[in-house]
Amino acid sequence: MEKYDTIIVGAGTGGTMAAQTLAKGGASVLLVDIKSKPSIGDKVCGDVVGEHHVTELKLGRPDNGAFEYNVKGIRIYSPDEETVFTAADKEFMGFMLDRTLFGQWLLGKALDAGAELMDSTMFMDPIIENGAVAGIIAKRGTEKIELRSKVVIDASGFHGVIRKKLPQMGFEQNIANEDVELCYREIRKVKKMPEDSSYCEIYLNQEKTPGGYTWIFPTSENRINAGLGVFMEGNFPSPKDLFFKHVASRPLFEDSETIKLGGGFDPTRRPLDQLVGDGIMLIGDAASLVNPIHGGGIGPSMKSGVFAGEAILDSLNTNDFSKAGLWSYAHHFMTNYGLKQASLDIFRRFLIATDNTDIDYGMKYGLLKEDDLMAAGYGEEFEINITDVASRVFRGIQRMGLLNNLRLTVSLMKQIKSHYLDYPDTPEGFDSWRNKTVSIVDEARSKLQGKP
Ligand SMILES: Cc1cc2nc3c(=O)[nH]c(=O)nc-3n(C[C@H](O)[C@H](O)[C@H](O)COP(=O)(O)OP(=O)(O)OC[C@H]3O[C@@H](n4cnc5c(N)ncnc54)[C@H](O)[C@@H]3O)c2cc1C
Repeated sequence: MEKYDTIIVGAGTGGTMAAQTLAKGGASVLLVDIKSKPSIGDKVCGDVVGEHHVTELKLGRPDNGAFEYNVKGIRIYSPDEETVFTAADKEFMGFMLDRTLFGQWLLGKALDAGAELMDSTMFMDPIIENGAVAGIIAKRGTEKIELRSKVVIDASGFHGVIRKKLPQMGFEQNIANEDVELCYREIRKVKKMPEDSSYCEIYLNQEKTPGGYTWIFPTSENRINAGLGVFMEGNFPSPKDLFFKHVASRPLFEDSETIKLGGGFDPTRRPLDQLVGDGIMLIGDAASLVNPIHGGGIGPSMKSGVFAGEAILDSLNTNDFSKAGLWSYAHHFMTNYGLKQASLDIFRRFLIATDNTDIDYGMKYGLLKEDDLMAAGYGEEFEINITDVASRVFRGIQRMGLLNNLRLTVSLMKQIKSHYLDYPDTPEGFDSWRNKTVSIVDEARSKLQGKP
């Protein structure tokens, strides 16, 4: 039986980038996906990716039309829609994707580099030998197949199908409802595009979309990708019902035609604390690596795929595929990228704890600034500028609760960022690191008013 250096379950944006990295580095790699080859990439999504991700990963430009439309920036609307923050510098430019063509482009790059694909094949179980993952059992049609490898990557998206079968390795099993956005999205052809259709629009409203937001993203040929997400806390409302009530009813969608529709889950929390075990790594949504504020996970999943691939190439030199041997991936991800996501998870808790009146007031009178929300939106270098706290205090005298929450948020964001820089470089210090992480998040959860 053939044995691969790496088997990757899931040929999404994360899995294909890991496969490409590994194959380019000379490793043998098998991508396994439940979808048939032509439908790989198809997913319910907002379909936008920041140009900076594409540039940083040196992806070049697809020649198959995957980048459908250039986006100049982003507009964020206050709940009363009276204040609009606009960001249009290069950090906020991006591309509206044809999601299937984008997936096919990434898959093509992996296959061209030498990766193999087994499509229409469902992961069933991990093979465990001597306490380590040594391959997978998969099902193709009615046939059960045993596939072996030195390392297995769980790139299966939100459901984390391998992770969920490995409780004995310490991986978190279920993502708390308060950390999941349940979304409904449609792509509609409209009669008339908005006057300026080169911006992605985001509408904040805690009553219409508790814990989430509405998006209206224009794309080419009079098409709009629109949807909304709500966090799954308590008796949360149906996002589909909310969509018809608050989005489809807008004049923009009068006499529009639905081209695609569907729902999906987005894990909007800090990354899972543990990303590797003996013979196993988690990347992308399987490790909850999306931006906690806006749920964008294409960029982070691709980055995690590259980081994981590079760490495995190093392990092939040392022949050590144990948790300790693969740990450099977790350390690299957490200290370079995870720290921003963890700090944005604190900011997410602040936003959820802030009601419409405070968001309206804060945006109108500069308590919440354009720079804060914009930087938070894309999340890469976010740090609220607290040098102007005094002027915010003056403006916020009517809203001391909001101001105090903002101060606490800034302080906890700084704290968690610096804590992530101390992510242990071996598995030994992990338990105490995790305990401190949980205590910072618990402080945010309990002290920021509202839920969670
Ligand atoms: C409604 C919605 C809107 C979003 N909008 C955006 C956006 O505009 N921009 C952005 O950056 N991000 C967005 N995201 C997040 C983004 O889609 C994900 O973060 C990203 O796709 C994660 O990539 P991934 O490779 O980890 O997983 P996925 O892309 O989900 O890929 C997982 C792959 O695993 C395969 N698989 C699953 N189970 C099995 C199994 N048992 N056996 C074999 N194969 C299996 C699947 O078929 C799939 O191909 C959105 C998410 C949702 C739900």
